[in-house]
Amino acid sequence: TGKHTTGGSGFIAAHVLDILVKHGHSVTTTVRSEAKAEHIRKAYPDVKIDFKIVEDIAVEGAFDEAVKIEGLEAVIHTASPFHFNVTDTKKDLLDPAIIGTTGVLKAIKKNAPTVKRVVITSSFASIVSAGLGNAPDHTYSEKDWNPVTFEEAEQNPSFGYRASKTFAEKAAWKFLEDEKPNFTIATMCPPLVFGPVIHSTSLSSLNTSNQRVRDFITGQYKNEIPDTGTFIWVDVRDLALCHVKAIEVDAAANKRFFITAGYYSNKELGQIIAKNFPEYKDQLPGADVKGGDYPEGGIYKYDNSRTKEVLGIEFMPLEKSITDLVKSLKNLS
Ligand code: NDP
Repeated sequence: TGKHTTGGSGFIAAHVLDILVKHGHSVTTTVRSEAKAEHIRKAYPDVKIDFKIVEDIAVEGAFDEAVKIEGLEAVIHTASPFHFNVTDTKKDLLDPAIIGTTGVLKAIKKNAPTVKRVVITSSFASIVSAGLGNAPDHTYSEKDWNPVTFEEAEQNPSFGYRASKTFAEKAAWKFLEDEKPNFTIATMCPPLVFGPVIHSTSLSSLNTSNQRVRDFITGQYKNEIPDTGTFIWVDVRDLALCHVKAIEVDAAANKRFFITAGYYSNKELGQIIAKNFPEYKDQLPGADVKGGDYPEGGIYKYDNSRTKEVLGIEFMPLEKSITDLVKSLKNLS
């Protein structure tokens, strides 16, 4: 049975690949370059993983050839820019997110008629509403959509990123409605993702969501802990399992999944690192250092029941996720 994943060299995709292999699926993944393929090959010396080079998902038709795989049954689309290093919001964030998503769907409809399920990595960014603020009275669930506009997307890279995920996921649901393809879809909406890094080779090129933990252990937050921003999280291994379950479980068809393990604050991250890694004492903020708390007025609630019920996921605790992440960072330079 053929499974296909996009952007195999990314933080989340590397774990998706890992679980696909462990579940015995045969896997083809796209990567941007031969060098990235070689990196993955080395990690799986005993497993046959096939590669297709897709240099830029923002190019129309980029996936047309990559999906031509005999017996292909499912596709997991994770590739999309997640960084705030942006000069042109449309070119750097919106185009790769939106054209990337619609491009995969169009290519499958055109060239891969055996595909039954497509899983798309969306985000809590497509659920959360900036206008609601910390929203202590609101419970976020799959019913919520970020009301962000194209104009707001241009205001700053953070809005730009959130808009890119919102518009891309909306485009996927619209494709389903307009094109009525032979396949069903499922979208994954995680908030901040932590957990061990198996794709990265250096601390300086670390993926965005793990950077705050790196910044703790390299002493950046010694005198002040920054605001937390998003107060909910999930471990990358749980999230990767959700992606794979979403191709394996019939009932996941045409559903959106809000995937969170619960709350965290930056202050708690610092405390977990201090408790488990005394060797970082000099780099970490002392108990009297300010910042990184939960908002005084409270914080939004979340409803993750669909993910637990339909995908059968039990979420791992924050302390395990963060300690495994820190251990993995010790292997990088
Ligand atoms: P990474 O930055 O590690 O992965 C992103 C992947 O997308 C990389 O492999 C990157 O390749 C690829 N990519 C980006 N732009 C292009 C492009 N134009 N053409 C081809 N490939 C491209 O981040 P994550 O693993 O964290 O992100 C994966 C997905 O998860 C994204 O869709 C992101 O929005 C989503 N997500 C992540 C969360 C998190 O906290 N980590 C939270 C919610 C959603 P390269 O590195 O070579 O540029």
